[in-house]
Amino acid sequence: MADCLFCGIASGEIPGDIVYRDESVLAFRDIDPKAPVHLLIIPGKHIAGVDKLEAEDEETIGHAMSVARRLAAEHGVSESGFRIVVNTGPDAAQSVRHIHLHLLGGRALDWPPG
Ligand code: AMP
Repeated sequence: MADCLFCGIASGEIPGDIVYRDESVLAFRDIDPKAPVHLLIIPGKHIAGVDKLEAEDEETIGHAMSVARRLAAEHGVSESGFRIVVNTGPDAAQSVRHIHLHLLGGRALDWPPG
């Protein structure tokens, strides 16, 4: 989608530190990491947020979760623990309206979040 930052990263028009890609999802390092491991996993298809998910997206989002699990292992945080966050809408401070899973790990994470 035009004017979407993450569509730009997915298409290669905008640089991204991509660590994983397959036919339906990709993952890249967050530009402003909040933890030693901070990856974003996104579908290649533009979906604005969880609030806009459709039934046909279920397989892709389930796959994104599996990719997150695999990346957590590859980045050494499976045993220590990690958090997957999907901010949705204004109250959750979603700043990029292209659905993304934050994969955070490598330090003790506070709970509850702010
Ligand atoms: P959210 O606030 O949940 O929408 O998260 C958006 C995330 O995208 C933030 O953690 C930003 O640091 C991150 N971000 C913004 N621009 C870029 C970029 N060009 N490359 C990688 N991550 C980005």
